[in-house]
Amino acid sequence: MTTVPAYAAPAPKAPLERTTVPRRPVGEHDVLIEIKYAGICHSDIHQVNEDWGRAPFPMVPGHEIAGIVAEVGPGVTRYAVGDRVGVGCFVDSCRECANCLAGLEQHCAKGMSATYPVGSDGQPAYGGYSSHIVVDENYALRIPEGIGLAEAAPLLCAGITLYSPLKHWQAGPGKKVAIVGLGGLGHMGVKIAHALGAEVTVLSQSLRKKEDSLRLGATDHRATSDPATFAELAGSFDLVVSTVSAVLPFDDYLGLLKTDGTLVNVGAPADPISLNLFSLIGGRRSLAGSMIGGIAETQEMLDFCAEHGLGAEIEVIPVEQVNEAFARVLAGDVRYRFVIDTTTF
Ligand SMILES: [Zn+2]
Ligand SMILES: [Zn+2]
Repeated sequence: MTTVPAYAAPAPKAPLERTTVPRRPVGEHDVLIEIKYAGICHSDIHQVNEDWGRAPFPMVPGHEIAGIVAEVGPGVTRYAVGDRVGVGCFVDSCRECANCLAGLEQHCAKGMSATYPVGSDGQPAYGGYSSHIVVDENYALRIPEGIGLAEAAPLLCAGITLYSPLKHWQAGPGKKVAIVGLGGLGHMGVKIAHALGAEVTVLSQSLRKKEDSLRLGATDHRATSDPATFAELAGSFDLVVSTVSAVLPFDDYLGLLKTDGTLVNVGAPADPISLNLFSLIGGRRSLAGSMIGGIAETQEMLDFCAEHGLGAEIEVIPVEQVNEAFARVLAGDVRYRFVIDTTTF
């Protein structure tokens, strides 16, 4: 056991402060990663605020981790010291259930072992707002040359959260895709869907970010505050991916789909939703959900993003500014992801 510098919330809803946390010794198949950058995901704020249930404190958030391998265990074969690697939302799984064997470790029957705040052993786990982390080599990802570590960090959550449903529902040439919400998740959705060859429309509350949408690869940007949007775009899309965590008027959004179209939610409203099932029955439409991606698919996403030059649009901050950054995320004041320079510890 060794201790490393970290930024932690000492109690629910409390500002983060400098501390140290334990990291396990480097085991047979472990890699020690010197973290260079950690993205700030909106879910980090939900976790600190216990919006998703009780959690242990002090809490070190961070599941968008990019760094360099600093040490390897004797049994490690995939990585060597100096390799560029990332860690996402989970660091282990049972490795033997049907989902794990199918590369769907995020849906492990025994529960994936989250990067933080609690591992599958029930013990506190500390995330990426820290100088170092120890993970099993099978749950680390290779960050290809050709993409900066800072720009790559948000891909480990935001990137895969959008890549996986876009691939699963076959966004590509000849398909019309709408991305709802242009934030940390949505901006990666626009970039990836465009690179996959789909025609992309952004549905945002206002026209404020229209220029950004077009620059990121969308061909259209519409305001959801304008009822005319839903009338004009009715029946237009093969796939709508919602990245927002507000409860949407789902009947209106389902009406945007073509026959056999799918509305996928990657944002998670805290409250139950209601909808008229005729919105699904008419047009044989589907309402679906999606959560990050498995290890193999996350690697595929990183390789795809590197090949197409798709990093996240980021604002890099020193670790001392993390509380200010949390406030700005809540205010929607970031284009489009804060990334902590963890070398500033
Ligand atoms: Zn996240
Ligand atoms: Zn499993």
